[in-house]
Amino acid sequence: MAAELKRELWEIRRTARQTDEGVLAIRDQIDALKQKIEEVIDLRNQGYPVYTSPRVLWKFYRFMTEGGFPGCQAGRKFLVINPDGRMTPCAMVMAYFDKQEDMLENFTKQNTCEACYIATRAKRHKVVCVSVV
Ligand code: SF4
Repeated sequence: MAAELKRELWEIRRTARQTDEGVLAIRDQIDALKQKIEEVIDLRNQGYPVYTSPRVLWKFYRFMTEGGFPGCQAGRKFLVINPDGRMTPCAMVMAYFDKQEDMLENFTKQNTCEACYIATRAKRHKVVCVSVV
C-alpha cells in the first residue's frame, strides 16, 4: 500500500514537472496530491514506517502548488564535496569553493533559489531542539 502511494506521488510530481511552470496547475492534480499526502500521514499515524514528518510533507505540498519554497540553506545545512575536494552548495548549483566560509559569504547569504524541495533540502531544514534539565 505504501509503495503504491509512493508511486502515485511520484507520478503526480513527474506530471507537474511537465507543465511550463513546473507547478501543479490543474485543480484535479492539486486535489490528488493533497489526498495522497493525507493518506501517507494516515499510514504514518497507524504505525507504518513513514519517516517523513507531516510538517515536511505539507511543505512539499506548498512547493508543488506554489512553484517554489524560499529559505534554502544550501552551503550552511548541507553541501556537496566533489571528487576533487572542492565544494558546491548543492548538486544543482555549479559554483565551486575551497572553503565553506567562502561559500557562506559568496553564495548562501545571497541565495534566492527555490528550485527544489527534495529530501536533501527538506530533511536538513529541520530544527533540532534540545532541552537541558
Ligand atoms: S536547487 Fe534546491 S538545494 Fe540547490 S540552491 Fe536551489 S533550492 Fe537550494
